[in-house]
Amino acid sequence: MILSKESAIEKKLLHYTGKAIADYNMIQTGDRIMVCLSGGKDSFTLMRILQLLQRRTNNKFELFAFTLDQSQPGWDDSGLRVWLEKYQIPHEILTKDTYSIVKAKIPEGKTYCSLCSRLRRGIIYRYAEENGFNKIALGHHRDDLIRSLLMSILYNGEIRSMPPKLLSDNKRHILIRPLVYCQEKDIIKYANEQAYPIIPCTLCGSQANLVRQRVKTLIDQLAEENPKVPSNMLHALTSVKLSQLMDKNKWDFKNLEKQQEMQPEMTDAELEIFASDLF
Ligand code: SF4
Repeated sequence: MILSKESAIEKKLLHYTGKAIADYNMIQTGDRIMVCLSGGKDSFTLMRILQLLQRRTNNKFELFAFTLDQSQPGWDDSGLRVWLEKYQIPHEILTKDTYSIVKAKIPEGKTYCSLCSRLRRGIIYRYAEENGFNKIALGHHRDDLIRSLLMSILYNGEIRSMPPKLLSDNKRHILIRPLVYCQEKDIIKYANEQAYPIIPCTLCGSQANLVRQRVKTLIDQLAEENPKVPSNMLHALTSVKLSQLMDKNKWDFKNLEKQQEMQPEMTDAELEIFASDLF
């Protein structure tokens, strides 16, 4: 395994990833973790940072890189293969032509992403199950979480985002997102520093998600005025005040009266003391 001197940015990413793992109890001894390595900056960073943490824990958990080649035109994983060998990471690059399915099913001009991600998710889950991985690690970071939150509020009418740890609907998979505290700008800096052999995510030719781009721009603009905006949004996800919202299923508004404590009326003497305290 390659040992390199820890840079300041690597130290920061290690700190925040370790903190998220601890805060959400993401990894336990003996876990077999399949890391989804798409070939983008986020997944490369996730893979490398988890590998460094694995070494710190004396290999208490297992890591495996899984890459899905979706047969997009121009796909070239040669750099990725060299990188995986260099860092001695056990891996599989599986080819499944979801690109043709998506092209055939989605009309020209529409975005492919939702069907593409659904097909990809199915393949990832099946592979993890068939190969005995009990956890699946994804590279979403802080800025993905806050953009998803705002998109969901603005366009779906729900307060939701990407949780740090999730039990899949069929209850057979646990997804973890160890980079949830990491900022995208730090990941970009680290990816440049590490010179990852990035596989571009535009190969599919799908139209950029304009809504996501607008939400990103909006948050970036607000952050220029107040740099705390992104961290405040992330904090909001950890600090939900149900009594201050309107979800009847989560908060028993109908029966608040039962919780109401009737204070006995103040006597005249008590009122006098109260008033003298005030003035
Ligand atoms: S950008 Fe392309 S590869 Fe990525 S999810 Fe969308 S359709 Fe799939």
